[in-house]
Amino acid sequence: MSETICPICSGKNTSIFYEGLSDFTFKTTDKKFDLFCCTNCDAKFQHPFIPESEVGKYYPASTYQPFQLNSNLISPKLKYSPQSIYIRKLMTEHKPEDVFSLIDVGCGGGTFLMTVKKYFPNAELMGIDVSETAVQNLKSVNIDCVCSSLYDFNINKKFDYVVSSQVLEHLNQPYAFIKKIKELASNKSQIMIDVPASDSYSAKKYGRNWVHWDLPRHSILYSAKTLSYLLQEFETINLQHGGTVVAVLSSYKISKQQDIFAQRFFEKMVLKVITPLAKLFNLNFLFSDKLIWIGRIK
Ligand SMILES: [Zn+2]
Repeated sequence: MSETICPICSGKNTSIFYEGLSDFTFKTTDKKFDLFCCTNCDAKFQHPFIPESEVGKYYPASTYQPFQLNSNLISPKLKYSPQSIYIRKLMTEHKPEDVFSLIDVGCGGGTFLMTVKKYFPNAELMGIDVSETAVQNLKSVNIDCVCSSLYDFNINKKFDYVVSSQVLEHLNQPYAFIKKIKELASNKSQIMIDVPASDSYSAKKYGRNWVHWDLPRHSILYSAKTLSYLLQEFETINLQHGGTVVAVLSSYKISKQQDIFAQRFFEKMVLKVITPLAKLFNLNFLFSDKLIWIGRIK
């Protein structure tokens, strides 16, 4: 029992989960960070939180891949990838010429929005991100984008789709996020949210070396139980695990103190071989590092 309150369920039955984790992915600091867990809702959370005004210094701005413009669009063929699942969902619900509105909250470099635009040229798209680099990149390809924190963002419009991919885990104020998401959605809107899955095979196998702890950039890590708790006021249409086998390989490299961004020829080959083999034999646990939630306002 500690006096550390869970940021998801406000429970007091919390304890330290991993002490002294380092920034093993981007190595922006030598500081150590503590991860706590909640017995009630299974949340894993950084304690104390880094104030959101200070967290920017832990992002390697020029190399942080999610902010960069990426000309490789998302393939709808990737069976387990969250954003591929969203694209396929749009394809089953719309013809290419259809008009619908979609906002991507925390759109980063805009790969998802650019992919939607390719398949649905008439869609009314909007992105929002705190990164000026990301916003300028999207504007350069004529996609409407606003540089703002979601907390400060106000627009008098409801979107048919509200998407937020790999954002929630960065936030200290998950309930403020949820409130804003509700403002952007109508009763008919569909909401699609994905986060790293703390109940994935890779998290269990690699423990404190799991790549997605990603402290101090990640504030709260979610299992299916935690995410269901946070989103209980919504109707859940689908909640599933997905992702790629990269999390397994990256976590393995961290456990061996190797640079996770050094893609050696051998590793590329391993990935090329493992992925189809894992699919062939239905080794779904290897593709479980993300939680993908689709729902709507009740
Ligand atoms: Zn809790």
